[in-house]
Amino acid sequence: MCRHLAYLGPPVRLAELLFEPAHALVRQSWAPRDMRGGGTINADGFGVGWYPDDGDPVRYRRAQPIWSDPTIAELAAVTRAGAVLAAVRSATVGMAVLDGAAAPFAEGRWLFSHNGVVRGWPDAVVPLAARLPVRDLLTLDAATDSALLWALVRHRLRAGDDPAEAVAATVAEVAVAAPGSRLNVLLTDGRRVVGTTAGHALSVRAAAGAVLLASEPHDDDPGWRPVPEGHLVTATVDEVRMCPLPTR
Ligand code: GLN
Repeated sequence: MCRHLAYLGPPVRLAELLFEPAHALVRQSWAPRDMRGGGTINADGFGVGWYPDDGDPVRYRRAQPIWSDPTIAELAAVTRAGAVLAAVRSATVGMAVLDGAAAPFAEGRWLFSHNGVVRGWPDAVVPLAARLPVRDLLTLDAATDSALLWALVRHRLRAGDDPAEAVAATVAEVAVAAPGSRLNVLLTDGRRVVGTTAGHALSVRAAAGAVLLASEPHDDDPGWRPVPEGHLVTATVDEVRMCPLPTR
């Protein structure tokens, strides 16, 4: 279900992340190696967000397979960035297929992606959603579990929570409200990345002042390390930390 990645480091062309590696995101969209919980390919949309000249991020999102859009190939060939978050989407059954349902979701410097599913959607999370301002619910990017998950994380960020706390607390409360959910997320402000493993795989490769987190390693570099299940990862170009996700 969905494949995503986050990169921080020296500026690279987007194509170096999305298209060129042997098992790049475009290949993971039609031949993923490690799909869990339903879904076989990631053809319901894609999105990429990047930080031009370290400014606020811009996004390109479409509700079509990444391999079928000539514009992203052209953009990726010439666009360079030192921070990128990208995803390809396999829509959960019953969820809208719209540009706005494709990650990354965004506000200010933040970019967010969810790989997984909220079980019992939407009933299971109505009590959590009810804590959000009505405005946030009326302006969700799409009526999907991932967009609501972003609204919950964003609500905590707006309140001043540390990003790792915002992610860990949201994943913990959704896991309790909707047991059996798969809640791998990525959150970045272009300087650090917070990620989780809660039902899906995630690998990390850190080297030479760059860090890449990805659902699946995109090449056979021996530097890739799997993140154990049930963990929170906090990464900058200098340091990768992992700790067990808190439960509640
Ligand atoms: N449930 C989310 C959606 O439908 C994410 C799906 C996924 O990870 N495959 O958009």
